[in-house]
Amino acid sequence: MTADPDCIFCKIVAGEIPSETVHEDETLTAFRDINPAAPTHILIIPKNHIPDNNAFSPEDEPLAGKMFTLVRQLAEKEGIAETGYRLIMNTGPHGHQEVRHMHLHLLGGASMNYPMG
Ligand code: AMP
Repeated sequence: MTADPDCIFCKIVAGEIPSETVHEDETLTAFRDINPAAPTHILIIPKNHIPDNNAFSPEDEPLAGKMFTLVRQLAEKEGIAETGYRLIMNTGPHGHQEVRHMHLHLLGGASMNYPMG
């Protein structure tokens, strides 16, 4: 497991700071966003410290598949699979990425008829 001691999401993975975890397995963790932008707002993260999509390597490719399967499972659990949802992965300054640990936002439970900016 690679971890950055200064990374808030690595601290969540390590259990050093609390989170409302909704899923955990060997490679992924998912927890509720502390500042939700929708009724369902879950962050799906790799346990390994991958800072952003620019650092995503071919060896990480199985992880991407697992993330999308987990999205489907969580959407079903949250009851938003049928009504739909939005997935966002912000990358770098122009993407307004605040936390430098790759994460996928799963947003739903209301119509996402506004841009995220
Ligand atoms: P981004 O702008 O894509 O980097 O999104 C970072 C997200 O992490 C924001 O939506 C924050 O509300 C969320 N966030 C930051 N700290 C925490 C935390 N300790 N627990 C849960 N979510 C967090």
